[in-house]
Amino acid sequence: MKNIKTKLLIIGSGPAGYTAAIYSARANLNPVLVAGLQPGGQMTITTDVENYPGFGDVIQGPWLMDQMKIQAEKVGMSFQNDIINKIDLSKKPFKAIGDSGTEYLADSIIISTGAQARFLNIKSEKKFIGYGISACATCDGFFFKDKDVAVIGGGNTAAEEALFLTKFASKVTIVHRRDSLRSEKILQDRLFKNSKINFIWNKTVNEFVGKENDKSLDKIILKDVNSNDLSELKVDGVFVAIGHDPSTNLFKGQIDMDEDNYIITKSDSTLTSIEGVYAAGDVQDKTYRQAITAAGMGCMAAIEAEKYLAKNT
Ligand code: NDP
Repeated sequence: MKNIKTKLLIIGSGPAGYTAAIYSARANLNPVLVAGLQPGGQMTITTDVENYPGFGDVIQGPWLMDQMKIQAEKVGMSFQNDIINKIDLSKKPFKAIGDSGTEYLADSIIISTGAQARFLNIKSEKKFIGYGISACATCDGFFFKDKDVAVIGGGNTAAEEALFLTKFASKVTIVHRRDSLRSEKILQDRLFKNSKINFIWNKTVNEFVGKENDKSLDKIILKDVNSNDLSELKVDGVFVAIGHDPSTNLFKGQIDMDEDNYIITKSDSTLTSIEGVYAAGDVQDKTYRQAITAAGMGCMAAIEAEKYLAKNT
């Protein structure tokens, strides 16, 4: 079994992880970053990014993450294409085991494992995931060229997914459980102006119904939240955009989390309930969830880890 010893192990490769790597590498901590299942994180399934400061022109999410990786490697981060599937935070050095069989021993850890898209969790949903149901328009929108699709949700993700889908689909219907969107005004304006987009208000999805062989989607059954009346919407695809869950299963029972399984950190700090373990980005932030806020927290975590290591090793 391969053994890697490090002062600082960073778990996760989104903006929080890479920023933590850049700062800690420049503090000579020789950080080891384990990338996880989706190297680059959620930004790799985004297209246009126009709110990350520093770029006059619109940039692409995957490109931005490549740049962060290159920058972190240049200053001394060791990148491991591995997935941590076991961790022991009960004693020091902390121990993590990767899918590759590698054992990581670390004096401190920054958790930046991010969050994942949430699905509706209704009975008929599972069999159509990948066969008409998706949580990523950037990944799957292309398959719905000239087709009718629905987007479920009323937040920024739903708005962005719907706008992106108009590049391919002939019609995009936003199905929302209330009568107003929670997405930013600028996105709402774009949605209302787009002739391919229409809305169904005050309805939730009751059931997904497939074509005869159940290998593709035929329609969704909608339920009116006020009257409970059922109605049908014919669709070829459904994009679920109803929020995210933090990727914290690995740490359950070992570290303090809130009722939604987000890691709790001390006020004005990224320190978790364990000395020497820090959390940054969407894994501990359910309010802002932006690449730039995640990056800021990654920076904080690196500075805090450096101070901890200076005192304790
Ligand atoms: P949000 O939590 O903001 O929105 C989720 C939406 O899904 C809400 O409209 C909610 O309805 C609806 N919803 C939740 N559960 C269900 C359910 N079971 N059935 C039906 N509808 C449901 O999540 P987002 O992913 O949109 O955004 C998360 C965060 O990321 C936000 O802070 C957002 O601003 C940010 N973001 C920013 C972007 C940007 O700046 N470019 C891009 C994408 C996201 P209801 O409104 O009734 O609660």
